[in-house]
Amino acid sequence: MDLMQATDWAALGEAELDGVVALRRAIHQDPEIGLDCRRTTAKIRAALEGLPLELREGPSTSGLVAILRGGGDNGRSVLLRGDMDALPMPEETGLPFASRNEGMMHACGHDAHSAMLVGAARALCARRDRLPGTVVFMFQPGEEGYHGARYMIEDGLIDDVLPGRRPDAAFALHIWPTMKRGAVVGKAGPLLASADTLHATIRGKGGHAAMPHDNLDPIPVAAEIVMALQAHIARTVPVTDPAILSITKISAGTAHNIVPDSAELLGTLRTLSETRRREVQEAFRRIVAHVAAAHGLTGEAAIDEGYPVTVNDPRAAALARACAEQLGGAGWVELPAPIMGAEDFAYVLREVPGAMAFLGVAPEGEDPATRAPLHNSRMTIDESMMAKGVALHCAFAERFLATGFD
Ligand SMILES: [Zn+2]
Ligand SMILES: [Zn+2]
Repeated sequence: MDLMQATDWAALGEAELDGVVALRRAIHQDPEIGLDCRRTTAKIRAALEGLPLELREGPSTSGLVAILRGGGDNGRSVLLRGDMDALPMPEETGLPFASRNEGMMHACGHDAHSAMLVGAARALCARRDRLPGTVVFMFQPGEEGYHGARYMIEDGLIDDVLPGRRPDAAFALHIWPTMKRGAVVGKAGPLLASADTLHATIRGKGGHAAMPHDNLDPIPVAAEIVMALQAHIARTVPVTDPAILSITKISAGTAHNIVPDSAELLGTLRTLSETRRREVQEAFRRIVAHVAAAHGLTGEAAIDEGYPVTVNDPRAAALARACAEQLGGAGWVELPAPIMGAEDFAYVLREVPGAMAFLGVAPEGEDPATRAPLHNSRMTIDESMMAKGVALHCAFAERFLATGFD
């Protein structure tokens, strides 16, 4: 099958833009948080009404999977993902369609992601007859720390897209308000980090601060654990397979003359490989227990596992790059290094080879570097760039269905 001209994909995106902007604004002013984003799902369902899609929902989330079977069946299938959830923070953009829900804001662009994916679904449905395979649209809540993608996978929503098979490839876009308008940014290999939350409790014996010999003071032990963890990172973790371990909170004590019974540490661990993640998790448990034990105290470590490393398959990253270059504009920008944030699209990429890319949405004439970033109460986007997002989704899908990763 001949590949389409890039201009066709760009035109597809432009043709959907008005609808995408309207849907994005409707979602933006009614943000929802977590796994249950049912009003957002309802808006998406309404926008997909009448299209030739098979819809699937699962018990664990308000997520929606829509499957488009093309006119041909060459045995290939491709998943496109958009997340749906907002953040627990006030909005201060002053936009006419700003959040009406107190303390909730779409400050990570997931409103745009959902709307762009609807635009792509509409555009690809209109071209169903020339699609040689199957496209799966994954509308996912609960990205902001709720593991929505994992629940949707566990609910079986991406199973048996074709009999006995999950999709062959997966793609996602994330808008980026501090990147140049229209730039498509990404890399092969690790793109985003794993993110685990670390807790430690050091238990000693409290008493009078003037008689430390009668106590088991947890505070110097907590301090020693913090330093031992940093020494581990500096002296054991290879720079070629790095880890970040930040202790961000230390809590203990009540007054200047009282040694407390216990001290608590809280922090985060970020890595770029599963091997490194497991190694540092183990070191954290060991150092907390054994540094405390060395001083006659006890140390208990607990780890809340967050998202795994988001790893772009090199073939999928190359396909995304080719699409971005073919679409022109600001083209492809190779990310020189991973970003140490985390993303639950990682769960999809753990099951299905694929890639995530960022889309620059800084408005024309504004310096991207000085703009409000993601998760900022004044974060805004150049909505016209959503046409490019739609075009990219269409290009990813059609190109993969046409040629696979070849
Ligand atoms: Zn976010
Ligand atoms: Zn996000």
